[in-house]
Amino acid sequence: MKGILFIVATPIGNLEDITLRALKILKEVDAIAAEDTRQTLKLLNHFEISKPLISYHRHNEDVKSNILIEKLNNGENIALVSDAGTPGICDPGEEVIEKAIEEKINVVPIPGACAMINALIASGIDTKEFNFLGFLPLNKKLRKEKLREIENSNKTIILYEAPHKMKNTLEDLRKILENRKVVLARELTKIHEEFLRENISTLLEKIDDLKGEMILIIEGKKEKEILNNKLNELTLEKHYKYYEEQGLEKKEIIKRIAKDRNVNKNEIYMKFI
Ligand code: SAM
Repeated sequence: MKGILFIVATPIGNLEDITLRALKILKEVDAIAAEDTRQTLKLLNHFEISKPLISYHRHNEDVKSNILIEKLNNGENIALVSDAGTPGICDPGEEVIEKAIEEKINVVPIPGACAMINALIASGIDTKEFNFLGFLPLNKKLRKEKLREIENSNKTIILYEAPHKMKNTLEDLRKILENRKVVLARELTKIHEEFLRENISTLLEKIDDLKGEMILIIEGKKEKEILNNKLNELTLEKHYKYYEEQGLEKKEIIKRIAKDRNVNKNEIYMKFI
């Protein structure tokens, strides 16, 4: 019989954030595939678990996933863990999971901590629909495409970012989002856990003093903002007609157009006398 591949979530800071089931699985499997064996050893020592560790990280995923598949095909049960949180979420895992599924090996998720979910749920920003983009690419073209996606998204956006790159990312975001509301979640589950609920400019003023692991939650484009952008792309006449069809009086229409376009209402009034 083939073994089972367990995808086990581990804490993102506070070691108490590991489930009873995760501990049971880590104790019972034949081996643990770990992103960084030294990091995982600290966790295992804390819980007095002793298991053979197999290194499985981004740079050996291809070779190591074949070794893991062989073991699984021979009936061994394997737990896959990353340094912190949920494997496969901006962490290695995808490759061995894909191969296991091809080999008809049972893949079982063991739920637990995931930084982005915890940042989102306490952010106060809309959780109904969200778009997790992971780390923004460094390649200029790809980054530009992602920034455009963020600019046009009416869903909440979640970004992971290295602390030393956060300032640069916020500067790029300010260029397209101006002062959209964002939440920076820092050091989740650790002593210095903090949520900064600010607009981008205010956050930029504070960023130099902030340390530790960080996530950025960005409020989606509001319906009103989307409508405004669409209206502003119309000719003045069509913009006028849009409000006229809603039964509004000339004075009110001019007021609204001026507000949508952020211009003085006399300027619009002069166009319609
Ligand atoms: N697999 C992990 C998960 O489930 O969230 C994510 C791993 S990814 C390589 C590391 C990034 O996750 C960090 O750069 C940071 O953006 C975010 N992160 C991880 N732990 C965090 C924490 N305790 N507080 C804030 N952000 C954290």
